[in-house]
Amino acid sequence: MEKSPYNATVTGKILITPDLMVLRMKTDEPRIKFRAGQYTSIGLLAGEGRSPNSVIQAENMPSDYLITRPYSIASANHETQNFEFYISQVKSGSLTPRLFNLTLGSRMWVDKKIIGIFHLNETPPDCNIVMIATGTGLAPYISFLRSHIKDHKDIKMVVLHGAGYPWDLGYRSELEFIDFNFDNFFYFPTLLKADESWTGLRGYIEEHLKNKLLEDIGVEINPLKTHFYLCGNPKMVESVTEFLEKRNYIIHSKKHPGALHIEEY
Ligand SMILES: Cc1cc2nc3c(=O)[nH]c(=O)nc-3n(C[C@H](O)[C@H](O)[C@H](O)COP(=O)(O)OP(=O)(O)OC[C@H]3O[C@@H](n4cnc5c(N)ncnc54)[C@H](O)[C@@H]3O)c2cc1C
Repeated sequence: MEKSPYNATVTGKILITPDLMVLRMKTDEPRIKFRAGQYTSIGLLAGEGRSPNSVIQAENMPSDYLITRPYSIASANHETQNFEFYISQVKSGSLTPRLFNLTLGSRMWVDKKIIGIFHLNETPPDCNIVMIATGTGLAPYISFLRSHIKDHKDIKMVVLHGAGYPWDLGYRSELEFIDFNFDNFFYFPTLLKADESWTGLRGYIEEHLKNKLLEDIGVEINPLKTHFYLCGNPKMVESVTEFLEKRNYIIHSKKHPGALHIEEY
């Protein structure tokens, strides 16, 4: 009999909406300590069932084919055996409908490698950190905050999160709790489709940057003073990048360090 590739067990599944969830798992063996903001791959065999809330696809993968995709880790970097991910279901996708069909105790695969350059290690300790996300692009920032909020008392840290409706704001209560308890942390959700009961920000993230949301809380848009992190929708990444490049920001890479850090989903 073929040996199963599975090496982890589902320990938690919180459906924020029918298509958005926090998924927790425990790997059989611990992973090496990673940097908050990095990602790993997770996977399921093609033979696993799809969620009832997905689109039936004509798939011609053998049932023992392991479907894998990368996901940013949302848990703190000292948790090397218990991992959390923030995942949206692509109804016609290959992996996410199977992930949404998992239940507590289900087995799955988690890569041994944890990689990526989207982390805080090369950001000078005296620079403010602005974390901009759409949708599940919030995941690496949850790891940043859970891992490092206590180390950054002398700078300002900001989360700007764009979503459709209030119920799409995963981690809202955790971020509001941090905002309430840390004077140097600011949480700004901005919604595109909320009704009149929503009293917070509305519209596109770029508009808030242009309207000096950051300057109003004492955060200067200057690469020597503030590092920006962008994660999520390519259109948001493109337009915020354009805005920041006009203000002398350079996209960070291993070869060319810069104050603009990007992860596209
Ligand atoms: C570094 C990295 C980190 C990532 N982290 C996360 C994360 O934390 N959470 C998360 O939910 N996803 C994350 N992703 C995306 C993830 O890897 C998958 O691409 C996504 O979950 C779709 O997988 P799938 O197998 O269901 O769909 P696929 O079968 O791979 O895709 C089906 C189709 O849907 C499109 N598609 C892919 N993603 C989306 C989307 N979000 N909305 C609409 N259409 C889409 C694809 O372009 C493709 O055409 C990350 C990607 C990268 C590269």
